[in-house]
Amino acid sequence: MANLSVVKGDLTKMHVDAIVNAANESLLGGGGVDGAIHRAAGPELLAECRTLNGCKTGEAKITKGYKLPARHVIHTVGPVWHGGNSNEETLLYKAYYNSLQLAMQHHIATIAFPNISTGVYHFPKQLAAETALKAVEDFCTNHPDPIKEITFVCFDDENYNIYHDLINIPE
Ligand code: ADP
Repeated sequence: MANLSVVKGDLTKMHVDAIVNAANESLLGGGGVDGAIHRAAGPELLAECRTLNGCKTGEAKITKGYKLPARHVIHTVGPVWHGGNSNEETLLYKAYYNSLQLAMQHHIATIAFPNISTGVYHFPKQLAAETALKAVEDFCTNHPDPIKEITFVCFDDENYNIYHDLINIPE
């Protein structure tokens, strides 16, 4: 079973096989964590993203990491929060699950996630964390071996505290 951990910090600094980008459907860069990843990876990342023809909400695509310490970037698109009646939870669940599925297909053993959709997409943080953990736990139940280490990288205290409480890490 994969080890789950939570850290507070910057996703672009993570030394893992893959970091997950909270991208938009164009895959051509944006603000927030997406902008930070493109700045840290350098222009070759955008050049590779241009060849991918975008990505639908809930799906995932993979590129190299270029100047990042991470070898790969898995680009997924979380849903914009429209109040909760537009399939948002299912789409967020799929964004996490499909990112792990793609990671497994590429023999990735260590992966770090940001708090997808909780920035400019305004998904409520508590529900987003519960949905993320459900997807990760379901994936690990279905595929116990390939992925060894899953890290949630929280940028703000509120998300960090929510994940810390949900994962129940001893002090
Ligand atoms: P979305 O459009 O999916 O909401 P955002 O990038 O706006 O994406 O926000 C997603 C999460 O990423 C937010 O919780 C935000 O605080 C966080 N974030 C922003 N920059 C970084 C970073 N460098 N490392 C990790 N998380 C980040």
